[in-house]
Amino acid sequence: MSDATHDLLVIGAGPGGYEAAIRAAQLGLNVACVEEERALGGTCLRIGCIPSKALLEASEHFHQAKSELSKFGVDVAGVELNLPAMLANKDSIVKSLTGGVAHLFRKNKITRYEGHARILGPGVVAIEGPAGAGQPAQQIRASRVLIATGSKSAPLQGVEVDGDRVGTSTEALAYPEVPQHLVVIGAGVIGLELGSVWMRLGAKLTILEYLDRILPGMDTEIATEAKKIFTRQGMEFCLGSRVTGARAEGDGCIVEVEGTEPIRCDRVLLCVGRLPNTEGLGLESIGVATDRRGRIQVNEHFETAAPGFYAIGDVTPGPMLAHKASEEGIACVERIATGYGHVNYNTIPGIVYTDPEIASVGKTEDELREAGVEYRKGVFPFAANGRARALGQTEGRVKMLADAQTDRVLGVHIIGPRAGDLIAEAAVAMEFGASSEDIARACHAHPTLAEAVKEAALAVDDRAINF
Ligand code: NAD
Repeated sequence: MSDATHDLLVIGAGPGGYEAAIRAAQLGLNVACVEEERALGGTCLRIGCIPSKALLEASEHFHQAKSELSKFGVDVAGVELNLPAMLANKDSIVKSLTGGVAHLFRKNKITRYEGHARILGPGVVAIEGPAGAGQPAQQIRASRVLIATGSKSAPLQGVEVDGDRVGTSTEALAYPEVPQHLVVIGAGVIGLELGSVWMRLGAKLTILEYLDRILPGMDTEIATEAKKIFTRQGMEFCLGSRVTGARAEGDGCIVEVEGTEPIRCDRVLLCVGRLPNTEGLGLESIGVATDRRGRIQVNEHFETAAPGFYAIGDVTPGPMLAHKASEEGIACVERIATGYGHVNYNTIPGIVYTDPEIASVGKTEDELREAGVEYRKGVFPFAANGRARALGQTEGRVKMLADAQTDRVLGVHIIGPRAGDLIAEAAVAMEFGASSEDIARACHAHPTLAEAVKEAALAVDDRAINF
């Protein structure tokens, strides 16, 4: 398109969109990015991964100081929670990181448009100013458009979200006081992470889950162990619970669950999944349909049904993870600029930042069994790892699954200290097509938590040394 203002217009500045924009600029394209929020970085940086991790770390420090340090011979008296300071620390982390993205945009000469993007037709996008700003829409022409608009919390019928007492993860990142009793609807990633934060700060925590297990999709053996550990920590799980309603009432809330007495509590966190942000984008103007769950179908090059329009991240099928979106965004623009670009969906790790952390890459044992794949399994408990003992964090295990014939690593699942960092080794090994023998023969420094990964690899061949 010769009259295009930009080679590429990215809609959405989350981790998928902003990383794609930077990579495209590095590759020499004239790039613009439109974002309706003032701060760049999307859900992840503003109201997701980063602020939740800031609160998880801070609440863990509080919990350690209050209940754990004495076992190391460190007696601390008068430990008090300063919630406003904890929230301010989280806000300053968010501010510095979102500001960092704005800096990277300037450095890479990416044009930034602020407003809501609406596709008008092939190569043409209107940018409508923030609601109420009264500015006429600006029209941008771009040779290619990448849709990276992410997702939002899914509603649940009967649950009246008021953005205060009954809220989503956004509200749970900034409760003005520690709830006495927090009821979480959904025992998925958000429920366990944000539930952990407020439980460590003193809330009674009840988690209502529709299924008969927590963390659906995760390896069942690991999820079962996680539930045992979290129950010991004080989380109350009500599995098989169908929530039929929740609303604020007086200075508290009421939650209705089928077949039981209503639960009274002072805050409700609804986290039953997320929905793609595909409404109001003007997809109909280019003939792009969405599926039953509002997602855009793309081919392996992230091309939609409309020539010149691409989509990545939470608006497309697959796990709703920031790093999945980033990988796709980069692969998409690399293919546009160079003809090559690829994502290996089998080596995308998933992490739950609870204590202990839970991390996973590749196939679960359930998936292998279901597919009839013959595998060998190596397990190593952190209780037998010297570093875990020194840390005082001995719960959990590493589990490695390898093909019975070829020994190729098919999946690694970890519950234990720093599992989220340890899984990187497994993801890299799998990316290189490693066997469990490769990992077992690689020298791992002593004393480290990573030795538990090596020992699990040895255990695949029944030759773990320290267990
Ligand atoms: P989720 O899909 O992880 O879990 C939702 C849970 O709600 C499931 O266990 C589901 O069975 C349950 N549920 C559904 N309907 C219910 C009902 N009516 N009553 C009770 N329970 C019900 O969703 P989430 O925790 O909301 O997270 C949303 C997305 O964000 C996920 O895709 C997740 O991967 C992503 N996320 C990832 C991270 C991370 O990578 N650490 C952190 C936060 C969010």
